[in-house]
Amino acid sequence: MNPCPCGYLGSSAWPCRCTPEQVARYQGKLSGPLLDRIDLHIEVPPVSAQLLLEAPPGESTDSIRERVVAARERAMQRQGHANQSLHGAAIDRHAALDDTARAFMFNAAAKLGWSARSTHRALKVARTIADLAGSEAVQVGHLAEAVQYRRALRGAA
Ligand SMILES: [Zn+2]
Repeated sequence: MNPCPCGYLGSSAWPCRCTPEQVARYQGKLSGPLLDRIDLHIEVPPVSAQLLLEAPPGESTDSIRERVVAARERAMQRQGHANQSLHGAAIDRHAALDDTARAFMFNAAAKLGWSARSTHRALKVARTIADLAGSEAVQVGHLAEAVQYRRALRGAA
């Protein structure tokens, strides 16, 4: 979705013409429970055509695919299904958080006012990030990245 009705909120290249009330009303159209079910909230700032054309080529889709396949394979070997299908206690068991990581997640969830569902969904994303990194345990860095993905829209936890 756009950040506001005109689409330019937060852009340095174009001025946003919306009032704060319009922005609040627009973002409020997405209900909390709906946002709760979207795991990856990512802010994508507008890119000028020139910047787009001058950007160096990124990582190839093939090499990304290899990492994704390997991460999924790791999950299958560990628990017999993808991280997305983990539920309840199985999430905690397979996330295998140490005390530091557990404290970090607890604090983040409390500070952001997350529901149990939000917290569990972020844990599953963190498990996937750890799998992509080839890490046995979910560490603080993986959790921090997963937390970031649920924070792009201000006020939407
Ligand atoms: Zn705007």
